[in-house]
Amino acid sequence: MAEAYDLVVIGAGPAGYVAAIRGAQLGMKTACVERWMSDEGKPVYGGTCLNVGCIPSKALLEATHKFHDAQHNYARLGISGKVSMDLDKLMGHKNALVAKLTGGIAGLFKANNVTPIQGTGRLTGANQVEVTDAKGKVTSYSAKNVVLASGSTPVEIPGLEFDGKHVVDSSGALAFDKIPESLCIVGAGVIGLELGSVWTRLGSKVTLLEAMPDFLPMVDMDIAKMVQRDLSKQGLDIQLGCKVTSAKASGKSGKAQVAYNNAKGEEIKTNFTRVVVAVGRKPVTDKLIADGLGIEVDQRGFVQVDSQCRTALPNVFAVGDIVRGPMLAHKGSEEGVMAVEVMAGQTSEVNYDAIPNVIYTSPEVAWVGKTAQELKGVETNSGAFPFSALGRAMANDDTRGMAKIIADKKTDQILGVHVYGQHAGELISQAVTAMEFSASAEDVALTMFAHPTMAEAVHEAALALHGHAIHMVNRKK
Ligand code: FAD
Ligand code: NAD
Repeated sequence: MAEAYDLVVIGAGPAGYVAAIRGAQLGMKTACVERWMSDEGKPVYGGTCLNVGCIPSKALLEATHKFHDAQHNYARLGISGKVSMDLDKLMGHKNALVAKLTGGIAGLFKANNVTPIQGTGRLTGANQVEVTDAKGKVTSYSAKNVVLASGSTPVEIPGLEFDGKHVVDSSGALAFDKIPESLCIVGAGVIGLELGSVWTRLGSKVTLLEAMPDFLPMVDMDIAKMVQRDLSKQGLDIQLGCKVTSAKASGKSGKAQVAYNNAKGEEIKTNFTRVVVAVGRKPVTDKLIADGLGIEVDQRGFVQVDSQCRTALPNVFAVGDIVRGPMLAHKGSEEGVMAVEVMAGQTSEVNYDAIPNVIYTSPEVAWVGKTAQELKGVETNSGAFPFSALGRAMANDDTRGMAKIIADKKTDQILGVHVYGQHAGELISQAVTAMEFSASAEDVALTMFAHPTMAEAVHEAALALHGHAIHMVNRKK
């Protein structure tokens, strides 16, 4: 007899493990299937995010930011002395952090009575999940409800196949054992900019080859220009409009040769110590669902779901990177919570119009809602406030960037908030809260903000939108 569960979740990334914990909290007998195992044969929880994504990348970003600051920006504050980088120690710090957090999920499963099942899960019937363990043994489980949360993997492009040494994906670039003298990153998206920042701060000469003619097209246009300028100042060579044709280990040189056409169409061949391909991620849904169950998977591998993440089978939900929407950990987690709450008969929804986005460069880029370019044709008001006019930014010795609010001209409802500056990722949360409550720009303008904080820039941007910012000269309306 197959063991019976109220809920079986396939995948223990931020979408799946959160769904499993919330399901157990709601009283469901819950199991979570995960296939990832450590070299020592231990189960690994937390998915891409904890193991090779959000967490390790932020550990490297934070440490290298401190290193860079200490080298270049402390002397003018009266702090001096030579600093050095021990890469092994830094990687050890990152690995220990990952182990601690993934181990924490095991603890949370135990505390919440979630049964972890090691192996590769497959939906074989509306109420049946089959799991193949590392030794090939297949076990069947019956499930009243199922959440599919198998996540995503890096896209590989022809001619630039990953070889695990010279040409690597983001996981490889989080674990170089030496600082590459030169590094080519194909794709100037979020991963390219974050990992490019890490290695340039450690001394690599970093070149980013981006296919699109525009830089960060999803970011507010004024901010994207500032980011491009600042990252170039930091040493990143960002080349737009490039067509990369191949990247391969080049003979005995120990390097990789990259062939590409630049924006002018010139054919270029250059050697780099390492190449990182970061051109997006694709859903992991191959063999996840048996044929004939009626669940639709599109050509790119995305499972088709409704606004509550329900598939064509009413008791089967799909969440996280395998469904439409941005591939972000917090978006997947919120979908996981929504899916199991809906299963439990509760009213639950995700507000897809208020998903925060953060790029953890220095300074950070953060936004929620729509950009001015997306709002073309809509009548809006906008207000912006530069950090160069903010006391706390000056006290922090970093006045780069600005905060900007866009609101509907008639109703004053906030449609988008865009911040570029230190701690922008923290600042954006208040904008998300405001948008969740359908706040107007005036609501933010009427709110009291602690002084001196970076968040005051958001307040001043709301005041500026109505022409009465206090700490700058307002634009004539
Ligand atoms: P995943 O995290 O990919 O987890 C899926 C899990 O399912 C994996 O553990 C996998 O082993 C398992 N699995 C797959 N198939 C099966 C199967 N058949 N049976 C059993 N188990 C299976 N997002 C952010 O929000 N903020 C960030 O700062 C951020 N930084 C990132 C940095 C990098 C370098 C990368 C690569 C990604 C980053 N992301 C970030 C994206 C984020 O990691 C993903 O959006 C998030 O992990 C998706 O969660 P998920 O649970 O859907 O999938
Ligand atoms: P991305 O979509 O952010 O960027 C990929 C870039 O590669 C794009 O600019 C694209 O135009 C470019 N590109 C595509 N094909 C190309 C080619 N053949 N040659 C050159 N350039 C090409 O994807 P990513 O950076 O790989 O990140 C994957 C996912 O992980 C994203 O969806 C992102 O949201 C998520 N992520 C999020 C964070 C964060 O929240 N801070 C950090 C890292 C990753």
